[in-house]
Amino acid sequence: HPSAAAVGLMEQSLHDMLKRAANRIQFGTPISHFPLIQEKIVKARVYSVVSAAMNAFAAKILDQYPLADLAVETSHCKLFGTTRAWDTLNDALQVAGGSGYLATQPYEKRLRDFRVATVFEGTTEIHSIYPPLFMVRRISRQLGDGSLGILSRLGRIIGGLYKGIDCPVRFEHRVLRKAARFARRHAGAIKRRLYAGLVVYGKKISRKEFFLRRITTLKLYTYGTLALLARYDQQRQGDPDPIGLLALRYFMEEGRQADKDGRHLFQTKLDGLKHRLFHHMTTD
Ligand SMILES: Cc1cc2nc3c(=O)[nH]c(=O)nc-3n(C[C@H](O)[C@H](O)[C@H](O)COP(=O)(O)OP(=O)(O)OC[C@H]3O[C@@H](n4cnc5c(N)ncnc54)[C@H](O)[C@@H]3O)c2cc1C
Repeated sequence: HPSAAAVGLMEQSLHDMLKRAANRIQFGTPISHFPLIQEKIVKARVYSVVSAAMNAFAAKILDQYPLADLAVETSHCKLFGTTRAWDTLNDALQVAGGSGYLATQPYEKRLRDFRVATVFEGTTEIHSIYPPLFMVRRISRQLGDGSLGILSRLGRIIGGLYKGIDCPVRFEHRVLRKAARFARRHAGAIKRRLYAGLVVYGKKISRKEFFLRRITTLKLYTYGTLALLARYDQQRQGDPDPIGLLALRYFMEEGRQADKDGRHLFQTKLDGLKHRLFHHMTTD
């Protein structure tokens, strides 16, 4: 599966970047001393850990409940793994500098071979809008068919909005407790935004791709955090490893930033400009 291949490629890229960054001297110092290089290495570690945890979490659930419906979770594994692996492969070539561009090095071949992974088995665009649409279908079924009056339907929407989201696992470690709160809070926010989107857009919601993608992005961070927590739940004995904990904190912080950008229910200024620009470009 491409999401498993993604983890392998990120791990290999991480290994290559660490080696190259330690050995390559520029301006009298190894390039590993430069923050812009360190950032690429750190991202490779975080995304590889998260991606592996996402895959393992989905696989574990399927092992225990072979008939579980994991359409959304496996979509997250594919979208997150393949897009982050593509960025990581690109970063590995960048860290290798001019020599990374040569066909005698493995980077350009890896990029070329992996390129298809964001196209087949569901393109990145489709996986970016599919999870919220899947949830919308489920909510619509819960709301009942058109035979219900508007008041009953609104009542059900409001009921669904405030139904609590519980986290049945308790953690000892402060960072893990924080992560559980993060996941619960974001799961609630996703639900509220989706219900609000349904109220505002109705059936047209499937055409609001920027809105849907913002929801998916938030879902990726929520599912990724839960997957990392599931990993810690299985390794209960002893203190969690410090790199894993820092990776979790980094991932949550990235999620917080994404949430700030993703709060808009209505079209953002940038979305509007994209729409207007495209309209002018394609009409005389
Ligand atoms: C090497 C390779 C192996 C493959 N193996 C298989 C296989 O074994 N079995 C199989 O069934 N298929 C296979 N495919 C086909 C693959 O699944 C499709 O190429 C893929 O689903 C994209 O469909 P398409 O090529 O028709 O692109 P299009 O549907 O023409 O898409 C073009 C672009 O438009 C975007 N797009 C389409 N709809 C939307 C939308 N609603 N919103 C936003 N963007 C949208 C797409 O994301 C894409 O970027 C393979 C493809 C390749 C390249």
